[in-house]
Amino acid sequence: MTAASHEALRAELNQKKEELTARLSRISANLRRGYEADSKERAKQLEDNEVVDALGNEARSEIAKISAALNRLDRGEFGICIECGLPIKEGRLKAYPYADECIECAEFDERRRARE
Ligand SMILES: [Zn+2]
Repeated sequence: MTAASHEALRAELNQKKEELTARLSRISANLRRGYEADSKERAKQLEDNEVVDALGNEARSEIAKISAALNRLDRGEFGICIECGLPIKEGRLKAYPYADECIECAEFDERRRARE
């Protein structure tokens, strides 16, 4: 990968991270809303909060992956599989810019998880 495409990638990752951080703070604001006194309303709110919380966790884990990808960019290790040390194919990085494993290792992990 060229230096120019690294810069473009860094900008893209930073932007995505900002979007997710903004989304996360909206989600947290929603969760902090006070509970209704009415028990029916309250039950619904609790249910909504569970959904909102799951979305929050998803955003948080995505932010963590993006930060890790930015770190790898800084260290010049971006695009290298953390498992086997081989380069991750460009097509995979285009589709999934913060992939930290090559497709072979990712599939291996998936199969292992499926067996567990
Ligand atoms: Zn690998």
